[in-house]
Amino acid sequence: MRRAEPETRTTDAPSVVGVDLGVKTLAVLSTGEMIENPKHLEHAQKQLRRLQRQASRRVGRDKRTGQQPSNRWLATQARVARLHAYVADARRDGLHKLSTRLVRSHDVVVLEDLNVAGMLRNRSLARHIAGVGMGEVRRQTECKTAWRGSSVHIADRWYPSSKTCSACGDVKAKLSLKKRVFKCDCGLRMDRDLNAARNLAALVQTSSPSCGATVNEPDGTPRKARTVRAAGIATGRLTPRVSQRRDREAPARGTFFHVS
Ligand SMILES: [Zn+2]
Repeated sequence: MRRAEPETRTTDAPSVVGVDLGVKTLAVLSTGEMIENPKHLEHAQKQLRRLQRQASRRVGRDKRTGQQPSNRWLATQARVARLHAYVADARRDGLHKLSTRLVRSHDVVVLEDLNVAGMLRNRSLARHIAGVGMGEVRRQTECKTAWRGSSVHIADRWYPSSKTCSACGDVKAKLSLKKRVFKCDCGLRMDRDLNAARNLAALVQTSSPSCGATVNEPDGTPRKARTVRAAGIATGRLTPRVSQRRDREAPARGTFFHVS
């Protein structure tokens, strides 16, 4: 799809925003802004449970006995489907509003390289993270910065954004997920997520004062951060998906079977 020409900005100081994506709040920006998770999703969840309970009291389809579903059961199923569609739409809408806001008001957006697939394997977090759609935020933001001519900066997966003090740079060895307020010996007391967002923003502000200039620099610190050039995003995926890699390995395992 063809978009309007990307705006070229003339301001000397590019505005950088660090974004800490979370479960409780959808995102915390380094500017101090907090973007809440849409509450209607929770409401829909409650309704969904109600409908599923309702369906269980009605005569459903049973393949073993050949039982045909009742019209009342079918009606409930239709309502479940409609609700699922509503939840998906609402979620997409919220994520699009977030990513649009990020690229509209800032030149450089700094995101974390979240191991979404790995976190989905952690069962206690799975539902929440899947619900928030963190990977989707990144995909959308990368896409939209390409249209605008601004850039996305992806912090390294292992960069300790939460454990680092955004005032003095001290890195804590351990930080419990329960602690919502970051406290440092230097006297800093700050919301945990805001601290993380500021660290992410600082990654770009300290390494390259002129934002786009990072592109021309050699990849000296691959562990710290990597810059995604706006123009390069449109062409392809940055990292191969785990599922794809598995697909390629699958035939090898199959041949082993044939030998015996
Ligand atoms: Zn400190």
